[in-house]
Amino acid sequence: MTAYDDGNIFAKILRGEIPSHRVYEDDDTVAFMDVMPQSPGHLLVLPKAPSRNLLDADPAVLAKLLPVVQKLARAAKTAFEADGVFIAQFNEAPAGQTVFHLHVHVIPRYDGIALAPHSGTMEKPDVLAEQAAKLKAALAAG
Ligand code: 5GP
Repeated sequence: MTAYDDGNIFAKILRGEIPSHRVYEDDDTVAFMDVMPQSPGHLLVLPKAPSRNLLDADPAVLAKLLPVVQKLARAAKTAFEADGVFIAQFNEAPAGQTVFHLHVHVIPRYDGIALAPHSGTMEKPDVLAEQAAKLKAALAAG
């Protein structure tokens, strides 16, 4: 199995070396907006512990990750008045993975509206900041 490389972009975000629009953080987990959203409100949930993806992750890390994914999926559905929420996670490049630190996509969905392409168009920072604020407000409201 390929080793984890801590030079990946999400490792740099976790270390605070490059910015992100954070919406959530606890001892084990961080969530921030995807810079190339497939739908408004598209966010990513990451364990702080290093692994390339699901395949090499510690099951104890996964056990802490999914409740946070649920919490953020609920908040995203509320904040963006979505009809549903798509949860996605890719393992290795042939499966669509482009950044090799485990992450789960949380993507609001709407009846009859197609998703934008994966890793498609960069969103404006002020739009991402506004969406992050909406998500934080929905989380705070429970
Ligand atoms: P993957 O294909 O690995 O599952 O998804 C990686 C995701 O990270 C893509 O949806 C892409 O838009 C997003 N992404 C790539 N670079 C950055 C970045 O520098 N910051 C943030 N916040 N998201 C990124």
